[in-house]
Amino acid sequence: MDTYRIVEDSFRSLVISHAQVERLWTGGRWLEGPVYWADAGMLVFSDIPNDRLLRAVDDSVTVFRSPSRHANGNTRDREGRLVTCEHGSRSVTRTEHTGAATTLAHRYAEKRLNSPNDVVVRSDGSIWFTDPDYGITSDYEGDRAESEIGGCHVYRLDPETSALTRVIDTMVKPNGLAFSLDESILYVSDTGSSHEPDGPPHIRKFQVQADAVLDDLGVFAVVDPPASDGFRLDEYGNLWTSAGDGVHCYAPDGTLLGKVLVPERVSNVAFGGPRRNRLFITATTSLYSIYLAIRGAPATGCAGD
Ligand code: MG
Repeated sequence: MDTYRIVEDSFRSLVISHAQVERLWTGGRWLEGPVYWADAGMLVFSDIPNDRLLRAVDDSVTVFRSPSRHANGNTRDREGRLVTCEHGSRSVTRTEHTGAATTLAHRYAEKRLNSPNDVVVRSDGSIWFTDPDYGITSDYEGDRAESEIGGCHVYRLDPETSALTRVIDTMVKPNGLAFSLDESILYVSDTGSSHEPDGPPHIRKFQVQADAVLDDLGVFAVVDPPASDGFRLDEYGNLWTSAGDGVHCYAPDGTLLGKVLVPERVSNVAFGGPRRNRLFITATTSLYSIYLAIRGAPATGCAGD
């Protein structure tokens, strides 16, 4: 199997021609939510159907937390605390340095959230997350239930007041999200094509205005084959996203530069390693990685981990 699909010549400068996609571990059911802890040399990721968080250290994988309340997306806040989207509790939680769990968001307008999916923390400490219904449509990744909110939206939690604001209500299944390097743009994927043939398979972008108001800038990229479940940016602002055939890399103007081909369907990616030049890839049952010629975006402000 080829390692890459080169679409634009500039992609060659981002990758190492002879590097390989390495399978580090297998044995999960549906892996997501990788977050790299540079200070611990550790990657934490979710195995949602198996209700556990796993940890990879030196390529050896052990259980980090089980049960995990069907944890999905993970990130760390400005103080290094783990922030987790949980399908089972239908909430976003923070793990304090003591190990205690704090619920950050559980309801909006008196109604329970669906099943928070992916989360990023901005440099001002605000927490932004998506809330599609994948965790409540069956008992596979959570507990089957009706949506109380009746739609799938994107929310922002204010770090000072803990007020929860709905910032996007025009998506079918909002999923992955990340900020541009200067945090002026919020990218959010819509994986609506997962359940509806005509549903959206794309990433949209939004200008972040004052007071956290978003200005819709339209579709950033159509991901084919889908789905853009989760993504991260590199140090140049290129966006590396999951796709049906591996990892796709898009330039800041939305041009598809190339692909890293992965033998299983990819869900999420995270930059890590001591030099942040290693891309960790969660893909269905397995954790993969590949070394790149560039580094991930700095950990603070935009990378979400
Ligand atoms: Mg996701």
